[in-house]
Amino acid sequence: MTRFTYHRPTTLPEALVALDEPGSRAIGGGTDLLPCIEDGVVRLTRVVDVRALPGAADLTLHADGSARLGAGVRLSTLAEHAGLSARYPMLADAALAVGTPALRNMGTLGGNLGQRMRCWYFRGGVACFKNGGERCAAYAGEHEYHGILGDVSCHAVHPSDVAVALEALDAQVEIAGPGGARRTCPVAELYAGAGNDPHKELTLAGGELITAVLLPAEAAGGAQHWEKVMQRGAWDFALISCAAARRTDGTVRMALGGVGLGPWRIAHSVEEDVASGGLDEDSIAALAERAMYDTVPLERNGYKVWIAQAVLRRAMRALGAQDGA
Ligand SMILES: Cc1cc2nc3c(=O)[nH]c(=O)nc-3n(C[C@H](O)[C@H](O)[C@H](O)COP(=O)(O)OP(=O)(O)OC[C@H]3O[C@@H](n4cnc5c(N)ncnc54)[C@H](O)[C@@H]3O)c2cc1C
Repeated sequence: MTRFTYHRPTTLPEALVALDEPGSRAIGGGTDLLPCIEDGVVRLTRVVDVRALPGAADLTLHADGSARLGAGVRLSTLAEHAGLSARYPMLADAALAVGTPALRNMGTLGGNLGQRMRCWYFRGGVACFKNGGERCAAYAGEHEYHGILGDVSCHAVHPSDVAVALEALDAQVEIAGPGGARRTCPVAELYAGAGNDPHKELTLAGGELITAVLLPAEAAGGAQHWEKVMQRGAWDFALISCAAARRTDGTVRMALGGVGLGPWRIAHSVEEDVASGGLDEDSIAALAERAMYDTVPLERNGYKVWIAQAVLRRAMRALGAQDGA
């Protein structure tokens, strides 16, 4: 394990200056970063603890129905906060689905979004596409738990359960960068292109930091549904997860996890047909099939497409797609 120093800034400008230096990396609870350092997957010279920054641990529910979740909010808080789960129950369910109570107590929102991908080749130090090699080792190897999106050079999946719920809630990620620059981006954009970039999984530029996640007022309430299918009953990553919401205005949003290197939003045309309601079982099955039309499973993970279709069918029923409610 390489030696590194620990820095805990208490102001954002101080943190941004520290993160802008080569070899520096943000750390939240350290539940993913420290094992990555230990395994030699990540090499750095300094960790910058971002949990003491002003507002980092604040969870603010605004009167208009929107919310701001500081990047340092613990996953256990997301899972247990009564006000949050009343507005966004599927986000609380997704946070509760993460790992174990100990991991949820240490793990932060920013760290959950920023955690590295789960792939036994990548984490095992194999020279794969993301580890300095030329091609994905899983493609011709063991890939039962890998992604089902064909047009990528890395077939790993991103493990964040929370990101899937946030994608279906149309959340925005608030980002601060060198010199105090601020920007926001939709959750899925945070992972855009990750499957074909050999160097990183997030679209954060050097020195950028996630400061918060913003939930729009329109996403509060309505019907919300979360499901995570795992290889075993607990303490496991998703084979497939699904977050689905029918907003109070009747529109529908659905996202899947376990499909690729980020949450995967299903086609808007499918969401619109689900929103129109009045579906019988055959139409629900046809829509679930259509939602997965563009996926390209590998040789030994085609079963994931079937699981995804099954969870999508259950989500459509949970949103009341049959009776058009
Ligand atoms: C056994 C096990 C089971 C697990 N099961 C699940 C699961 O089922 N579902 C799931 O979603 N996760 C799961 N995880 C992952 C776990 O949730 C993550 O380890 C945790 O969420 C990371 O949070 P952290 O604060 O500890 O992140 P850290 O380890 O501190 O950081 C993780 C990464 O995010 C970056 N980062 C941290 N904060 C920020 C920020 N504010 N801005 C930008 N980048 C940042 C770090 O630089 C690092 O690269 C599991 C982990 C283990 C070990």
